[in-house]
Amino acid sequence: MNRRLIGIDMGGTKLEAAIVDVGEGFRFVSRRRVSTEQEGGYDHILSRVAALIDECVHEEPRVAAVGVGMPGSVTVTGAVKNANTVCLNGRSFRADLQQRVNVPLVFANDANCFALAEARFGAGRGCPVVFGVIMGTGVGGGLVIDGQVREGLQSICGEWGHTILWPDDRFPCYCGKSGCTELFLSGPGIATRYAQRKGERLALPDILLREQAGDAAAVACVDEWMDNFGRALSNVINIVDPDVVVLGGGVSNALCLYDRGVEKVARYLFSDQLRTPIRQHRIGDSAGVLGAALLTWPAGED
Ligand SMILES: [Zn+2]
Repeated sequence: MNRRLIGIDMGGTKLEAAIVDVGEGFRFVSRRRVSTEQEGGYDHILSRVAALIDECVHEEPRVAAVGVGMPGSVTVTGAVKNANTVCLNGRSFRADLQQRVNVPLVFANDANCFALAEARFGAGRGCPVVFGVIMGTGVGGGLVIDGQVREGLQSICGEWGHTILWPDDRFPCYCGKSGCTELFLSGPGIATRYAQRKGERLALPDILLREQAGDAAAVACVDEWMDNFGRALSNVINIVDPDVVVLGGGVSNALCLYDRGVEKVARYLFSDQLRTPIRQHRIGDSAGVLGAALLTWPAGED
């Protein structure tokens, strides 16, 4: 059975809305993109998102709900925290947005939306338990079981980026702890590790080029990164033992993750054999808005 869903993806620089037709596959019926205009402040963003929702519901009024993927997480009281759209932090965005529109809203963070899209239609399709990983400017993750996102009691399910990899005060994290995985596996984190060796800050693709050219600092930096990736992801697999891990975000384009990185995961795993496929994402940039829409599609109806 096909049905039409509406999803909203709130990025730091753009807001995207889509009406998507889903069934065996998916097809975008219409998409809208506007700039987030963070500088306009909290109420301005609220109005922009509410207007996008109203436009989509006007076009497709039969939906039961609208899915919204947003940055950061929420505290137990419902306040946003750790969002890169910083004016949302500390605000009850979910409740405030719901008050502005006449359709029920379903929220999840962007990593959960990515994981859901890849689980339903991407690299995790057919797998009951999917761990979706985002490695980009930050490191996040989402767990999908039988087609449903697990939010968790504290809404932190899948947040492996802030598990502590190297407990050492030399590595302070913005979350208030030290030595978090994100500091070693995010794009900026890897760039910082290179800069500490070489005194020069480069983006990850340039570090990889230098590594291929034999630059000693780059070779050491990539070796360390692969090792850290293996340690961190093996911890996740030890606990969750998912059927597949899907990697997304800009850092996931580094092909060394899929051979050298996977070898390191196998080395640190509490099992003599790594059977878990570790795959690159398939859906790409559309996963956020597609996953948001899929939040409103109950499992078992596909
Ligand atoms: Zn942290």
